[in-house]
Formats: sequence, C-alpha cells, structure tokens
Amino acid sequence: MGNKVLVVGGVAGGASAAARIRRLDEHAEIIMFEKGPHVSFSNCSLPYHLSGIVENSEKLVLMNPDTFKNRYNIEARVHQEVIKINRNEKTITVKNLSNNQTYDESYDKLVLSPGAVPIRPNLEGINNSNVFTVRNVTDIENINSYVKQKDIKNIAVIGGGFIGIEVAENLKLANHNVTLVEFANQVMAPFDYDMAQILHKEMVDHGVELVLDDGLEKIGAGYIETQAGKKIDADAVVLAIGVRPETTLAEEAGLEIGETGAIKVNQHYLTNDNDIYAVGDAIEVYHRLLRKPTRLALAGPAQKQARAAADHMYNIPSKNNGVIGSSSIKLFELNAASTGLNARTAEQAGIGYDYAYVMPGDKVGLMPNSNPIHFKLVYEYPTGRILGAQGIGKGNVDKRIDVIATMITMNGTLEDLKDLELSYSPMLGTAKDVVNHAALVGLNLLQGRYKEVKVPQVRELVENNAFIIDAREKGEYNKGHFKGAVNIPLSEFRERLDEIPKDQPVYIHCRSGQRSYNMVMALQNLGYENIYNISGSYLGVNLYEYFNDITTGRDKIVTEYNFK
Ligand code: FAD
Repeated sequence: MGNKVLVVGGVAGGASAAARIRRLDEHAEIIMFEKGPHVSFSNCSLPYHLSGIVENSEKLVLMNPDTFKNRYNIEARVHQEVIKINRNEKTITVKNLSNNQTYDESYDKLVLSPGAVPIRPNLEGINNSNVFTVRNVTDIENINSYVKQKDIKNIAVIGGGFIGIEVAENLKLANHNVTLVEFANQVMAPFDYDMAQILHKEMVDHGVELVLDDGLEKIGAGYIETQAGKKIDADAVVLAIGVRPETTLAEEAGLEIGETGAIKVNQHYLTNDNDIYAVGDAIEVYHRLLRKPTRLALAGPAQKQARAAADHMYNIPSKNNGVIGSSSIKLFELNAASTGLNARTAEQAGIGYDYAYVMPGDKVGLMPNSNPIHFKLVYEYPTGRILGAQGIGKGNVDKRIDVIATMITMNGTLEDLKDLELSYSPMLGTAKDVVNHAALVGLNLLQGRYKEVKVPQVRELVENNAFIIDAREKGEYNKGHFKGAVNIPLSEFRERLDEIPKDQPVYIHCRSGQRSYNMVMALQNLGYENIYNISGSYLGVNLYEYFNDITTGRDKIVTEYNFK
C-alpha cells in the first residue's frame, strides 16, 4: 500500500503537486480537493475571455477530473471544500458543496495549495450585483455574461496591478468605456515611476481613462465615487486591488503564519507540521535579494514549489534559491517585463544602487518592425552586481528580462553581462544586444567615464534655462525640441566649439542617447569638464513627460512631442 496524499486546491500548485507525486510514486493514492467547479484552469488567461481572444471559456479549463483519473490515476473531487484539518487524527473534513454533506478523509501527507482571495474593501455598494472580482473561470464568465447581456457601456476597473491592467485592456478591446482607478501614483508596482509613464501613455492612447493617486470611496447606481470626490460613470465594477493569502484552514489548524501574513514554510515547503506541505499564493517565500520573507503570487513559482514539495516527500533533494520576482505583461501594442529589484525597492531596502536607461532597437533598424526597447538596468553601487531590470517595447522584452533574471540568479555583474554571448540575426536582434548595451552604459557610469542627468531631472533644467545642446540634425530639431535647447548636431559640433560654453554645465541629448554620448565623450577629450549626457534623450523624456502633461495641464517642456 502506497502513500495516501491529499491535495487542497486543484489549480496551479495543487495540480502540479499531484501530477509530480504520481510520477514519483505509481502506488500512491492521490486525491485532490477543489471547492470550485474546475480543476487545472489557466488563471493567467482568464482576462482574455473578455475580449474574445479566448472565445470559449471552456478552453480555459486545461484538464477535467476524468482526464486526471484516466491519465494520472488522480482523483480530482470538484465542489468539495476542505473545511478543517484534524492534525492529531491526520484527517481532513470535507464539505461536499453539491449536497452540503461533510465527511472525513485520512492522509499520510497533505499538500495545501489554496491560493489567494481577492481583497474586497468594506465600502458602500461593494456587495452590489454589478461588482466583480477575477479569480476563476466562473468569475470571468459572470463578468462576461453580465456586460454582454446588459449591454454595459461604462466599466470601472479598480487597481492597476497585473489583473486590473489585463482586465481593463481586454474590456477596452471589447469596446467598453473603461476607467481604471489606481491608489498609487502609477500602475504596475514592479516598474519604477519613470518606466510606468510609458505604460500610462499606452493606456490613454488606447482610450482607457486612467485615474491615479485616487481610491474607490463608494459604488452607486451607474457610477462610482473616488476618495478625491470624482464621480465616474460605471455600470459594472471590477475589483482588482490585490489578493490576500488563503490561510484560514492553516490558521485554524494551528499551522504557523509568517510575518507577511502567509503560511510559513521551511526550505522544503513543509509547514510546522512534518506531514503538511504548503505551496503557491498562500505561502511566504524568501526574497534572495532583499534577504527577507515576502509574498509572490505568480504561477511559475507555485508550480516549482509544488514540484519541490513532492520531491521532498520522496527524499529527492532540491535546492531552494528563494525568489527574485520575474513577471511580464502585454498591454495593447507593448510588451513589458521586469525582474528583481527596481530603483524604488532598492532604495527602500537601503541598497546602494544606480541604473542605466537605454533604448536600443529590438532588432537591426532596417529590418521590418524594428522598434526601441526601453530598458532600465538596476545594479548595486559600487559593486556592479545586477539587481534588476525593467523592459518595455513592442518586441521581445521578455527575452531580455529573462537574461537578466538568469544573471541575477547567477550573481552576475555588469562585467559579466557586457560580455555575455547571446544569439543574433538581424530579424531577431542586434549584434550587441539590448542587455549588453545596458551593461556597457552601466559600466561607463560606474567607472565615472561620463556624467549624466536622469530623465526626471530634465524638466527642471529646461525650466531653469540650462544650456542644453540638441545633437540631432536640424530637420529632427525642427519637428520638436526642448524649449530653449540649442541645435548643434553631432555632425557639426567640431566646427562650432566656440558656441559651447566652458564656464557652465552643458547638457546634451539626441533622440536615444547614442549621438549625445559620442559628443559628450569628444568634448571631455577636448578638455570640457562640465558636460552631462541626458539619459533617455528626447524620446525617453517625451514619453516620461507626456501623461502628466495631458492630465495636469502643466506647460510642456518641448515645443512638440516626438515619440518616434
Ligand atoms: P490557485 O491556482 O488560485 O488555486 C487555488 C485553488 O484552491 C482555487 O481554485 C481554490 O478554489 C481552491 N481552494 C481554496 N481553498 C480551498 C479549500 N478549502 N478546499 C478546496 N479547494 C480550495 N501569474 C503569472 O505568473 N503570470 C500571469 O500572467 C498571471 N496572470 C494571472 C491572471 C489572473 C486573472 C489571476 C487570477 C492570476 C494570475 N496569475 C498570474 C497568478 C497565478 O494564477 C497564481 O499565482 C497561481 O495560480 C497560484 O497557484 P495556487 O495553486 O497557489 O492558487
């Protein structure tokens, strides 16, 4: 007679654990309990049902109980909620939601993967029938049928994290009027404020109304009201303000809860009970860069934890490296991805850091669909150890971020990254890849080869009439430039040195930073000491400034925007 293993939760972590246990032990009796109607569905694809990209919601369900039984001899019991863990008896109490009857089931080993629960603040109107959250197939079907059957025009999405953004995008693609309300001053917390401006622009460019720095106050009939007193038309509301780990079962069973409020586990994903493992969104994990417990609600980590827990059950060694937090998202025409620490989290953690911001092409410029990738590489100062990166562009940003994730995991430095040998052909990339490029800029900065000002500092320079040289050609300058900037193209500056002062700081930019970098280096060689490259250059600064310009009505610092 083999092990009897019970699994609570039948999706990312639970289904992965059950399948791995079967591969390791053909004799084990494995029963997976899921309180919802479906096991093994693609949570991450749920929002795409709203736009019709996933037309049929049944396709969201990857496996059903019959497939689990036939292929893996795993019993998947749906509509069965585990309501109690009886640790002394080594049993669980299960409520069959179809008939409300309860029964006990014994275990040798128990795996908890109950996931997380969407946060629902206690506000006026929160329990109205037009207020939704997104966690499973039923949730997304409910939203979809509600907005379709009632021909809903105006929808408010509350929360600008991954789920809120994806829901907003897919509702917009389905031609609804969408307003996204976010409490912070930016969407997508893994990105720094400067990079998030590119995402803000993408959202407003595609017609999503974006309300930042404001929270939901109440939900009325046909509208919501924000904390700042804004009344927004909304016939349906999707709440996506975050999740809390589902710890009720564990807590009631006396399993230890960690400082982040999630289930505490050891390096093998064992709780403080030697027969109970826990994985996925419900647990606390170790952040390898911040060196402290954290929570990370992502599918990849859940599946890897499930495998590691199953392996430990069968005495197979596995190493727990902790997490760094790698994620990606598509937003209309852009792809965005990030890994590790951003500048804000490095700052908050008291880690010395600097960053390189570059925007090289994602492929050779003369190839079709070549576009810049906006890439921010954060490294430790002064060691050059790579801490994190954020990338946004139309092309393969996730590939670049995954390289950085690998580097971080291998404790790589700027030196390692600069020389990293990556594949190249003109339709797919550039000979010096975006990540190599970012490392070179980072090394230049680290070694003090030139000085730069960062994108957010440029407004103040323009407003204070700093001496700014626009190193682009005249035609480019004429299409739009920083107010007060002097046009001295890279191709002319050697004949026009008398126009460049030595007794005051000089700030140089071009479109993307390459021409200005060359001018900065040349002027330094000619004895100029007070020369600064403007990081981000015209394109980066335009993207940074745009959203706040149009939403606050402040004066723009450019004569005309240019986002090309
Ligand atoms: P889940 O997969 O949520 O499974 C938990 C299951 O346990 C639930 O079905 C629940 O009903 C069941 N359960 C809970 N309590 C009990 C009980 N007492 N008895 C029986 N059953 C119970 N991650 C990414 O990495 N990339 C993405 O793009 C991404 N997109 C997402 C989009 C959406 C809309 C959502 C909701 C999540 C997304 N995620 C994404 C997150 C990812 O889906 C989760 O991190 C992952 O599913 C966590 O796995 P889990 O097993 O811990 O929880």
